[in-house]
Amino acid sequence: MKNLVLASALLLAPVATAAAGQTATIQPVVAATMPAPVVPLSSNPGTANTAPKAAPRQTPPKQTSSTKLVEPHLRVARSEIKGHARVALTFDACMGKADERILSVLVSERIPATIFVTARWLKHNPQALQVMLANPDLFELENHGQNHIPAVDKPVSIYGIASAGSPEAVRLEVQGGADAMLASGIPAPRWFRGSTAKYDLSSIAQIRAMGYRIAGYSVNGDGGSLLGAAITEKRISSAKDGDVVISHINQPTHAAGEGVAKAILDLKAKGTEFVRLQDVEDRGDDDTTE
Ligand SMILES: [Zn+2]
Repeated sequence: MKNLVLASALLLAPVATAAAGQTATIQPVVAATMPAPVVPLSSNPGTANTAPKAAPRQTPPKQTSSTKLVEPHLRVARSEIKGHARVALTFDACMGKADERILSVLVSERIPATIFVTARWLKHNPQALQVMLANPDLFELENHGQNHIPAVDKPVSIYGIASAGSPEAVRLEVQGGADAMLASGIPAPRWFRGSTAKYDLSSIAQIRAMGYRIAGYSVNGDGGSLLGAAITEKRISSAKDGDVVISHINQPTHAAGEGVAKAILDLKAKGTEFVRLQDVEDRGDDDTTE
């Protein structure tokens, strides 16, 4: 666990520096010598698969100081029935593989869920996709983009990932995801969730204009799949009436997935009503759904 926390802190350092308003062109010395602040894991919802690689380090993108990023919340209409919490489980399939621990529980327990897939994940996981398509009563498939690039139309670095950086690149990320879904036999998506779940307000407006609602969340279940099994189970099984949980279904080797699978059973045992985003009224902030 210590290694994961350390890795995560390293992973998060670039965005923390960027958030402090450091601009490489203006204050290169200060930026280079600033100690890296540690950002809590709870602010890292959508970054499974962002572990640093051994590739040569690229120059970080310049950040416009006026770029304000938001991480929208989303909730579903409450059941308002005691002992019958309504919860939407949402899973990101960023890239990598399919987590059978989670997928098999969803199927065997007949738990509906909303899965956000990228074109990259679809390409490498035809078997898991077939399981999802064979259970249309369980799985709503929605758009997580083409290449898992944050849908921010200005050049910024988020958790060390370079954003799309322009409106055209945002359009390509969103449209490329949808095109791959249609080519894989998936119905046209209505919801979009970008890599890292962060946006700027102009990219939100652009994606909305493309016909999508934008899927925030209210419970960060697995901290970008980097949390341990026990804390992940606790976070997700504590979901309340109206919550939208985000976690990952693409990291079969991470401990978090074990906690996700257990939490699904915990919630079911508590009488939870599981809903998909398409089946209920939802409300997001930052103009993501209205
Ligand atoms: Zn993702």
